[in-house]
Formats: sequence, structure tokens, C-alpha cells
Amino acid sequence: MDCVEIRRRLDAWLDGELPAPEAKRISDHIKRCPACRLEAQGNRQLMDLLDHLPPLAAPAAFSRRTMQAFRAGLEKPGMAEWWRSLSLAMRSAVCGTALAGLLCGAVLGTRVIQFETAVVANPYQSVYASKGIYP
Ligand SMILES: [Zn+2]
Repeated sequence: MDCVEIRRRLDAWLDGELPAPEAKRISDHIKRCPACRLEAQGNRQLMDLLDHLPPLAAPAAFSRRTMQAFRAGLEKPGMAEWWRSLSLAMRSAVCGTALAGLLCGAVLGTRVIQFETAVVANPYQSVYASKGIYP
């Protein structure tokens, strides 16, 4: 194991989460390598500091306010409700508009593909055209 691999596994080693053979390889490396030993000591000190921080508690009203906001989000009318509120004529108009948009997209997409194909087939065509030459 090199130093990069050791440092990648350092927190798991400090937490005692590694299998014995891997933990021994890291222990052996740390005994030989001052840089990794320093890194391990720093990580250990940070973990000790974090362990001694006072526990944080959410404000008393946090849970109640969160659940109220969640319920308010659920009660908002969605797309299905909006669709049901439309008359048959309005639903037809929405479908027609959507279909027209899809057709425009399909037609424009086809033209873009044709244009790109032409450019690939003759990459100098636009240069010739700018000089008034049409080979
Ligand atoms: Zn090292």
C-alpha cells in the first residue's frame, strides 16, 4: 500500500472498521511513514474534538413546522387536478398545441440533421459559398 491508499483508508482504520490483515498493513505503514503518522494523529484529534461537541437539538417547533410545510405541499393541486378542471374543448386545444409543438420539433430536428450531414459531406462548402464559388 502506498501513502495515497493508506490515507484513503485512514478514517476506517481509526474507527476500527477494517479487517485485521488490512489494519495491520496500515499500522505497519504508519510506524514507518512520518507523513501518514502525522495525518493519522490529526484525524484522531479531529475525531476526538467532534466526539466532545455538545449534542445539537432541533428547535422545539421544528418538527411541527416541517410537517405543516410537507402537508401544504401535498395539498397543492397538481397537474391531474388541473387537467380535470379543463373543459373538453380546452383539453382538445391543449392536446392540439402539444401535437403541433411535437410536429414542429420533428420537422426542425430533421432539417438540422440534414444540414449537419451536408456540412460533414463537404466541409469546405461554406467557405466556397462565402467566396461565391459553387463547385
Ligand atoms: Zn505514508
